[in-house]
Amino acid sequence: ACKDVLTGPIETTECNFEALDSVGSELFQQLHELVGTPFFRYFRADLYRECPFWQENGFCMNRECGITTVDEAHIPERWRAGALSKVEMPSEDELNWNQINKLPGCYYRDSDFCFLDSSAEGEYIDLIENPERFTGYAAPAAHRVWHAIYQENCFGQSEVAWPPSKSPASVPDTLSPNPRAQEAETCIEKRVFYRVISGLHTSISTHICMEHFNQTTGTWAPNLQCFIDRVGAHPDRLQQIYFNTVLLLRAVSRLGPYLSTYDYCSTGTHEEDAQTKNLLGNIINIAHRVGKFDEKLMFAREDANVLKQQFKDHFRNVTRIMDCVGCDKCRLWGKVQTTGVATAMKVLFELDEKALDPHSNRNLLIRSEVVALINTLHRFAESLHAVNLFKGIWVAEHEPY
Ligand code: FAD
Repeated sequence: ACKDVLTGPIETTECNFEALDSVGSELFQQLHELVGTPFFRYFRADLYRECPFWQENGFCMNRECGITTVDEAHIPERWRAGALSKVEMPSEDELNWNQINKLPGCYYRDSDFCFLDSSAEGEYIDLIENPERFTGYAAPAAHRVWHAIYQENCFGQSEVAWPPSKSPASVPDTLSPNPRAQEAETCIEKRVFYRVISGLHTSISTHICMEHFNQTTGTWAPNLQCFIDRVGAHPDRLQQIYFNTVLLLRAVSRLGPYLSTYDYCSTGTHEEDAQTKNLLGNIINIAHRVGKFDEKLMFAREDANVLKQQFKDHFRNVTRIMDCVGCDKCRLWGKVQTTGVATAMKVLFELDEKALDPHSNRNLLIRSEVVALINTLHRFAESLHAVNLFKGIWVAEHEPY
């Protein structure tokens, strides 16, 4: 069965649904503990930048759309804005080989697949206190954003991605490109791009249905029908969760030596810091075993450089579209996850072994990239966990005693 599913769309991940399922619960437990540690639970983001594509008028006024930020006084001094602006911006040396492009409030390096917030901007948010779940943010505002994201999948040789064209005022009925049409295309890079964004969409939908607010009873509970409608009835969407998890795990596997020597010792006690490293070590081991994404298949054609530049430009646009999400909590998690996936792409498509060497390239990733990568992997691992829970609920409701 595994082979049947994998012929065609997931050619880059080989037969690893089963492999991932066999470690899924261990991976989820380890990540769940890790994202609760001080280093990984605080994410700094500028959530109030202007939407660069259209005048945003779809603000969600539901209480659940709001977030609470953390007072900087509670954040370790070395992470505060003043200190960060000294250490997070690249050194003169780095500037020479890695050109920085600045825009108001954000920047990107040539090697980046996303826009990063300037270190002087933004606030700290406690991700544990602001969980990704149902908020009530819905059509037409949410559809407009999804439509703009899927539009970025349409790139071709002659197109210039930045500045992007304005999104159309109206939203068509079908927001995403037809997956079958995607498969018919020859270009693997476009299929991967589509899979990444469709997988993000599926994972977000899974969390919304898992922690759903029942307006009749006033309680939070899993909503099976929501899951069936948005995910369960679409096997291709389910596959994209696996696809993204494997892609992220491959990045963590390649980053193993770098992450193992990264400085996490800035937060809690000696024991807490040792525990952070220990959990990370376990996750890297799992990533070595099942992170079987083959990045060498990407950007291998003659026009690879042109295509990679377009791919990068378009994914950067996706990260900027997050500024157009009209619900603070959705925007926060949208930023975390697009930054996490962009970090994985940089590791897989841009950096060779020498660049990944922690001794020669100590400042390879800034803290928010590391935090986003691990939290995004946790989001996908939690989605796989939720899929199993929904299966259990379905069986309990449908099987005779
Ligand atoms: P949507 O999920 O909006 O989908 C619209 C259309 O896209 C569907 O009709 C279908 O044609 C297509 N589609 C759906 N899923 C896929 C897929 N996986 N692959 C390909 N095509 C697909 N809401 C919350 O409650 N909490 C959140 O944390 C949250 N975060 C969000 C983050 C972002 C970045 C965005 C853009 C939206 C977020 N939302 C969130 C809104 C949520 O994603 C939905 O848009 C909303 O719940 C309305 O859902 P819907 O059923 O109308 O379909």
